[in-house]
Amino acid sequence: MIDSAPPYRGRFAPSPTGPLHFGSLVAAVGSFLEARTRGGAWLLRIEDVDAPRCSAAAAADILRTLEACGFSWDGEVVRQSRRTEAYAAALERLKFGGRVFSCACTRKELADSAIAPDGASIYPGTCRQGLAAGRSARAWRLRVGDARAGFDDAIQGRVDSDLSLDAGDFILLRADGLFAYQLAVVVDDADAGITHVVRGADLLTSTARQIFLQQCLGLPTPCYAHLPVAVNAAGEKLSKQTRAAAVDASQPGPALFAALEFLGQQPPPELSGASPGELWTWATRHWRLERVPRGPLCPAPGSGIIVP
Ligand code: GLU
Repeated sequence: MIDSAPPYRGRFAPSPTGPLHFGSLVAAVGSFLEARTRGGAWLLRIEDVDAPRCSAAAAADILRTLEACGFSWDGEVVRQSRRTEAYAAALERLKFGGRVFSCACTRKELADSAIAPDGASIYPGTCRQGLAAGRSARAWRLRVGDARAGFDDAIQGRVDSDLSLDAGDFILLRADGLFAYQLAVVVDDADAGITHVVRGADLLTSTARQIFLQQCLGLPTPCYAHLPVAVNAAGEKLSKQTRAAAVDASQPGPALFAALEFLGQQPPPELSGASPGELWTWATRHWRLERVPRGPLCPAPGSGIIVP
């Protein structure tokens, strides 16, 4: 029998809002090992579409840390900040198909809107049938109508979403002229031929929106696996905002070991002082996605991970 599935292409897509911390390292390790142990490519994309929150210095620092950790990626690093034309072309296609509408609402005007499960506000539909007289367009939104989207996540199981309740008509082009993450990620994954997305479960609620957007644009839907998100003692996701410590590029072994443990791989204790090279040799032989703990949140190991 001929296997017609396209060859595995995975990716890691950090946002350069700060240095690489343990939470992002977990996503890098999981996506890398899943791709490599399935004989696949692993691509790197710097998600700097939200320019005001990102910096070139943070992007350079992330790349340096990934190299120090012994990651190797295929092809050129893609940067969202250089892909505006591709996002604009996708929006034009959606305009042509009548899938989007321009929106004049300000943040203040939307302050009383219903709140989606992920804390974002659900658009009340004010401009859906056209702009009121005298109002001018600030943003572009995707019409979700009564769409539903679902997928079988390789770690978290079945996820189903009613987009009108879980997201509402979401923004594709922001009032500040920047394209939204949801559009950028869908266009980027499709252009890179990504077949498998392995990333943090903080994005689980975004996936239905992305699948719907793929359908609107006639793009293929990759397979998804959402890794548990590392949280601190207060139950907060490790991030720049929660002051997660950067991975130490001069001594990345302990963080890599901790990431493998966090992902349920049970590296042998004698490897706890090992170099990245030794850890990768062990990990590429022993990686099993089915050992990754289910559940979207897991406590991060070691008190040293959080800056006090
Ligand atoms: N840029 C996102 C982050 O750093 C990841 C997006 C994705 O993997 O789709 O959290």
